[in-house]
Amino acid sequence: MNEKTIEKRLLKMQREILLKLPDTGVVCKSDCFCRNSTSEQNIDLDDLTALFALDPDSRRQLNLINHALNRLRRKEYYRCVQCGSQLSGEHLKKDPLTDLCEACLQKQSDDSIH
Ligand SMILES: [Zn+2]
Repeated sequence: MNEKTIEKRLLKMQREILLKLPDTGVVCKSDCFCRNSTSEQNIDLDDLTALFALDPDSRRQLNLINHALNRLRRKEYYRCVQCGSQLSGEHLKKDPLTDLCEACLQKQSDDSIH
């Protein structure tokens, strides 16, 4: 997967979540991801009132997506935030929102159990 493909995938996930929002009537900014879409749903991501309409899970998911997009733009997407090692394509394919390598992820889930 190249970065363009990943970005597209992340934006699609973001869009799917935002489509759950009730029509807020918010006009999106010119650089909004939805400017090319045929959807009539126009959402400003900075409009927190709109985001409060989402359930906690969707909001969390949205945060993760934004986080992943930011990492992608900073060219840090393939780097583990814990140890700095390279994330494998296979690993990212399974969870495109992860910012931890398999070893750190394992460690984290071990820590949360004990
Ligand atoms: Zn790591």
